Amino acid sequence: MKSRKLLMIPGPVEFTPEVLNAMGEPTTSHIAPDFIDCFGECLEMTREVFLAPSAQPFIVAGTGTFAMDMAASNLIEPGDRALVVNTGYFGDRMGDILGRYGAEVDHLRAPIGDAAGVDDLQEALDAGSYTLVSMTHVDTSTGVLTDVGALAAVAKAAGCLTVVDGVCGTAGAECRTEEWDIDVHLTASQKAVGVPPGLALLTFSPDAMAKFEGRDSPVANYYADIDNWLPIMQAYENRGGAYFGTPPVNLIYALNASLRQILAEGMDARFARHDRLARAFRAGAAAMGLEMVPRDDSLAAPTLTALYYPENIDASLCAGIGAEGVIVAAGLHAEIKEEYFRIGHMGDCNESDILSTLGAVERALAAEGHTCSTRSGVQAAQHALIGD
Ligand SMILES: *Cc1c(COP(=O)(O)O)cnc(C)c1O
Repeated sequence: MKSRKLLMIPGPVEFTPEVLNAMGEPTTSHIAPDFIDCFGECLEMTREVFLAPSAQPFIVAGTGTFAMDMAASNLIEPGDRALVVNTGYFGDRMGDILGRYGAEVDHLRAPIGDAAGVDDLQEALDAGSYTLVSMTHVDTSTGVLTDVGALAAVAKAAGCLTVVDGVCGTAGAECRTEEWDIDVHLTASQKAVGVPPGLALLTFSPDAMAKFEGRDSPVANYYADIDNWLPIMQAYENRGGAYFGTPPVNLIYALNASLRQILAEGMDARFARHDRLARAFRAGAAAMGLEMVPRDDSLAAPTLTALYYPENIDASLCAGIGAEGVIVAAGLHAEIKEEYFRIGHMGDCNESDILSTLGAVERALAAEGHTCSTRSGVQAAQHALIGD
């Protein structure tokens, strides 16, 4: 199939045949016994994938933005103060959402390519009395990885609830939700979870549930209100049917297939694979002379790489890479949008995908007349993968 293209963007990603076949199963009633089992298993497996054994999972039709909305609308009451550890585009969005529900929002911003550290966070927390701290695990606009374990520990010690937007990282970048004191961990189906777009997935810790239960005011968002969803999640997990809004039956089938594959690989093995492939990809990019947006390797995400265009090359490179058979994403961060591009390597991504992508970047650069080191990227990635 000559027209086949490899999809290497930060969501949607390439999905496995098992997941896509599950999407095509005949749709059944949302209260059919088979579907009840399927949904119940998804809730149980979500706890395992998020490494959140005591948390309450929620699986609701919606995108990642809806998952952010669900976290904010249930946890914020007017007048609460929230701090956003902001690494880029989706930190801004989280601030807007928190503000929409009445929070007074402050942002702890790092320069592009950097992330706030524990000292920065401690200083901000000492200066204000916040009830909630949110952070983005993998910033989709910069490829920056935030050390959510270290930051959540600081926020929790200051008495704050912690919210992690894991949409570009969950099930790819190591995240130990419970061990790391993350009260709400949220993601969407179409990124490293490996299911077509349309599902919001979240876990609420006992502290997050307690904050919700202690609210004085009703949740302003009817569809997001977990008062409506908690009985549904509990019913399915206890293998009973229940109705609030029709579950997206085929997406739940697909989620079941993907969560099984994720757990069959094992979380530690999966985190290690993403890390190894990302390192190989970065080795290839560096050998080609492409500079990454994150300031250094410790800040580079295992699920996404953001690279500056070399001199005299512009965003038309993305179309060129597409013509070579690989779909990549252009820039997203408003301040540097025209200066860089992004490659997602998450979910079912493997060694061949990494080499194919680097090969397409090399050919596209060569086609634009940028020949200096375009033949060294694939080779460097191979060295990294082989380990010699
Ligand atoms: C993709 C993404 C979102 C938004 O998800 P949608 O499904 O597009 O609404 C939010 N946060 C991060 C970090 C993301 O990568």
